[in-house]
Amino acid sequence: MKYLDEFQDPALARRLLDDIHATVTRPWAMMEVCGGQTHSIIRHGLDQLLPDGIELIHGPGCPVCVTPLEVIDKALEIAARPEVIFCSFGDMLRVPGSDGDLFRVKSAGGDVRVVYSPLDALTLARDNPDREVVFFGIGFETTAPPNAMTVHQARKLGIDNFSLLVSHVRVPPAIEAIMTAPVCRVQAFLAAGHVCTVMGTGEYPPLAERFGVPIVVTGFEPLDILEGIRRAVHQLEEGRHEVENAYPRAVAADGNPVAIRMLEDVFEVVDRSWRGIGMIPQSGWRLSERYREYDAEERFRVADIRTQESSVCRSGEVLQGLIKPHECAAFGTQCTPRNPLGATMVSSEGACAAYFLYRRLQPPPAREASTVG
Ligand code: SF4
Repeated sequence: MKYLDEFQDPALARRLLDDIHATVTRPWAMMEVCGGQTHSIIRHGLDQLLPDGIELIHGPGCPVCVTPLEVIDKALEIAARPEVIFCSFGDMLRVPGSDGDLFRVKSAGGDVRVVYSPLDALTLARDNPDREVVFFGIGFETTAPPNAMTVHQARKLGIDNFSLLVSHVRVPPAIEAIMTAPVCRVQAFLAAGHVCTVMGTGEYPPLAERFGVPIVVTGFEPLDILEGIRRAVHQLEEGRHEVENAYPRAVAADGNPVAIRMLEDVFEVVDRSWRGIGMIPQSGWRLSERYREYDAEERFRVADIRTQESSVCRSGEVLQGLIKPHECAAFGTQCTPRNPLGATMVSSEGACAAYFLYRRLQPPPAREASTVG
């Protein structure tokens, strides 16, 4: 545990915080675009250690949360078919669709299985040639490469009873959508380190330049996040808007070229809907023409599905950083992790779940005077 301990060292955290406090002269709002970072911030109370004027806005960085309702509904329909073994990571099973979730399908007799890798699903397909095995492929640039590789393997091994229900999304177009939204308070971004581990940092300089925002590639441990904030604060105070890599132990400028090549071979970039946000141009992937036969949507013809969002859930506003979870009237009452109304309460990376888990049940009391500076 020595390695992790070093990134949670209180003395080093104090030094970074002292630098941030000494640097800040006015309020700034910055967004982390990763649910893992959101949980780390809330779990360790990092936001409460910052100068009063520094606000951390929790962006649409939880892959489960941004998976659109119509894709969940397609998953429910496919999973209910008798010929199908439907495989997913565990956190998707409780995400509510228009009418129930994958647990409900399972309890009604559907063959829904939790797997720990898409390759587990491919093995199931090989071992059950008389069944159709579908893997629910969701997530950002981080989870897309193993799913791409699994489809590649399926073709190589001639396993035709395997398909992928794809809902992969890309971070840079989401940053563009956030910055061009009618209401946007974001002045800097903490970019997700694991996304950049795959994709590198090359997509970010045009965004930093176009919108005049610092973008700091940031890791996930408390010291990683404080260092990301520290660098963003320095840029903001100095009027700079550059891309900085504060996670060099994992991120190279050109990312992982092998993974990128696999993505480019198996997927093609398309417009995608984000739950609570809507369509973002060029923000996702689907299987490329070469691999289209492995596309579960095409194989099971579930293209047209009508969806119904919960009328009380404000997860769209949470995902865009317009409200904090405890500003939703249903938070902690109608909506809890045991009875979630929206994906941001279900997912282990969701902002609503983080606020509930770490007991941020009430908005903080208004502060009388700023202590910025
Ligand atoms: S607390 Fe529940 S209902 Fe409110 S925004 Fe979050 S997930 Fe939706």
